[in-house]
Amino acid sequence: MTGTNFVTSAQNTWCPGCGNFSIQHTLKNVFADMEKSGTDPRNIVLVTGIGCHAKIADYMNVNSFYSIHGRAIPVATGIKLANPDLTVICCVGDGDTYAEGLDHLIFAAKRNIDITVLVHDNRVYGLTVGQYTPTSPLGFRGKSTPEGTHEHPMNPIELMLASGATYVARGYTRKMDQLRTLVSRGIGHRGFSFIDILQICATFFPVTDSYNARVYDLPSYDTADFSLACEKAREWDYNADSPLSLGVFYEKTAGRPEGKVDGAHLSEKEREQALYAFLASRQ
Ligand code: SF4
Repeated sequence: MTGTNFVTSAQNTWCPGCGNFSIQHTLKNVFADMEKSGTDPRNIVLVTGIGCHAKIADYMNVNSFYSIHGRAIPVATGIKLANPDLTVICCVGDGDTYAEGLDHLIFAAKRNIDITVLVHDNRVYGLTVGQYTPTSPLGFRGKSTPEGTHEHPMNPIELMLASGATYVARGYTRKMDQLRTLVSRGIGHRGFSFIDILQICATFFPVTDSYNARVYDLPSYDTADFSLACEKAREWDYNADSPLSLGVFYEKTAGRPEGKVDGAHLSEKEREQALYAFLASRQ
């Protein structure tokens, strides 16, 4: 196949102005680039969780798996173990993966599973009409916290660095050229790649003006320097109105081959056994 139309004709029900459109457009462009470089689109698999983001499984014309809340990553892990030749990409939400699916995210990073995780981080549960998520700011007023949340948000960049992710980046849906580069680089990375994508929820958390005023590109530095990456990650705690950096925080391309879990070193029989053992461990 060449010149594939990567957007399906399924009716799109995202709200006008939703940041999900930008992520869909980015993926469409990245898949087209991959196809031009020789990747057969039939070897791309998109796995989603549950939430507004997850509808992208219906909207993109690649093999896709619409999983359950917080469980996109174990599904993607199983797919990658069963067939290491596939390019496996997870689209997940911030509530979906930082709350319901947090343990899967941490362990996929720890095991350095060779998949790419894109977090549609709008910092609110949009599909269920506006509850706070783990990255909502302190004081966020929503359906479940009308007086404002009393919890500080978590910093997913810091969490992923601590968990062992070998590619950690943050993008923004209003910086689409940069986002395309970050996603392409993440997919090309051998090992676990994680991109937190700041997007607005046009209906329940429309913070475009705030983001636009604060985002800047990370200055050039040695992204293999773990300490420096941690320092950069702490510049914004997902709460204060401080400058907000975008780009690659950390990338380790070598040095953990023993930690890369993609099944490529296993025979077909061993892969099957590993897959069943993994699935059994999740029950
Ligand atoms: Fe997008 Fe928010 Fe509408 Fe969901 S509720 S489609 S995240 S704007």
